[in-house]
Amino acid sequence: MYPNWILQRAYLTPLRSALTYEGQTWTFQELNELSMKRARQLTALGIKQKDRIAIMGPSTTGLVVMIYACMHLQCEMVMLNRRLSRSEIAYQLEDSEAVTVLVADEDAEKIPTNTLSYHLFSTVENSFEQVVDIAKEWTLTQTTSIMYTSGTTGFPKGVRQTVGNHQASATASVLNLGLQADDTWLCAVPLFHISGFSILVRSLLYGNKVQLYENFDADAIAQNIIEGAATYMSVVAVTLERILHALEQRNALASPQFKMLLAGGGPVPKDYLTRASALNLAVAQTYGMTETSSQTATLASEDAMQKIGSAGKPLFFNQIKISEPNAQGEGEICIRGPHVTPGYIGRFAQKSSTIEGWLHTGDIGYMDEDGYLFVVDRRADLIISGGENIYPAEIENVLLAHSAVQEAGVCGMDHPQWGQVPIAFVVLKEQISIELLHAFCQLKLAKYKVPKEIIVIDELPRNGANKLLRRKLVELLPSDI
Ligand code: ATP
Ligand code: MG
Repeated sequence: MYPNWILQRAYLTPLRSALTYEGQTWTFQELNELSMKRARQLTALGIKQKDRIAIMGPSTTGLVVMIYACMHLQCEMVMLNRRLSRSEIAYQLEDSEAVTVLVADEDAEKIPTNTLSYHLFSTVENSFEQVVDIAKEWTLTQTTSIMYTSGTTGFPKGVRQTVGNHQASATASVLNLGLQADDTWLCAVPLFHISGFSILVRSLLYGNKVQLYENFDADAIAQNIIEGAATYMSVVAVTLERILHALEQRNALASPQFKMLLAGGGPVPKDYLTRASALNLAVAQTYGMTETSSQTATLASEDAMQKIGSAGKPLFFNQIKISEPNAQGEGEICIRGPHVTPGYIGRFAQKSSTIEGWLHTGDIGYMDEDGYLFVVDRRADLIISGGENIYPAEIENVLLAHSAVQEAGVCGMDHPQWGQVPIAFVVLKEQISIELLHAFCQLKLAKYKVPKEIIVIDELPRNGANKLLRRKLVELLPSDI
């Protein structure tokens, strides 16, 4: 048994700042009191302890309090992604069998019309209270959150994340990054995603303040980093680029107070790392997934430039192995550790998440001679051309290093002679001829990797997590190449 995180934190450091949002600050004691009250209001509305309930709302204090209230009630929180379409939300509600939905008023219209039970945040906040016996202790195996994977390779899978998973993840992270009392996490990643949710968990376990932003605002965040108001921030490649751009435009460097940007969720183009380094901005590449409740490997900042492109070494308690490596040492990345989910729910409940304790990630990677992990690409997106393996990410990286290219996506197209050939789609920042881009690729890539065609489009297909959907690129392939 472990102490209820919120009660324990409010007991240990009641007066420390826990959260700032739009210029207002709450201490741990205040957040605890607010969330206890909310838990009593939820009880009055019929929500029982340990119920599975879905939650949807923008990243505001109201959402944080709702999440903490549900934690107090030991509910299994299905964290709905508010960027999804109504039918995608309907799928997750049906698949998870959540008994009710707690929805922020502004998101009410996103709830599918046939939803039997839901409560607006305002209804909860204005409800009367009913006494409830809040558990002072939690078990490691109880499910805290259920998050759906991004659905990059197929149907989103509902992943259980237990108290033990979250605790192991937060502990491993701090053993790697270290901790000071005034460390502050800037949270501009969604709380419904593990990247944002894990910032709340770390705050409760470490006693650190979170600066919460409802939306990603590159200018406000660049200003924050220049002033050194926060010390850590989590980003994905797209938001990292926007921060770099904002800093470059202002001709300003990151404050020495700012410690690190943790960049994960997908590959980070090497060019971004070089640009960040010129801005005195430390970027740690991390590798993780919904199934590992956030980071599983992270590259220490001191290694950032000499191991450029690596996702680092496994965090403490975790093990990583490469299954069935080929001659180059590349194979499926497998992960074992206390942060790995006990399994999926719903239609994937029968799918075992691990084999002998090892999570098979579906990602291809290799370990270099010093034990650093390099994530190469997703197994499902591998292109095999004339018997050679081609990873779309490698070609995308080359294109992204060109100053005229904003975004790039590569997929394979069937070819009578080679089996498959790579085709690139690009979104441009400035006009450039395809011939020049092609010549640029020829300079940087082996002949068989040079895209057979480069197609300019306005927008790349992305999912609710803003991840490139290469399986949708295949649908955009013209038939007459
Ligand atoms: P689905 O499982 O439904 O296809 P998803 O795998 O995209 O979706 P997430 O759990 O949000 O859902 O994302 C985890 C995946 O993101 C990893 O398995 C990996 O493919 C990718 N990823 C995360 N970090 C990195 C990284 N540093 N480099 C490359 N890829 C990464
Ligand atoms: Mg996945």
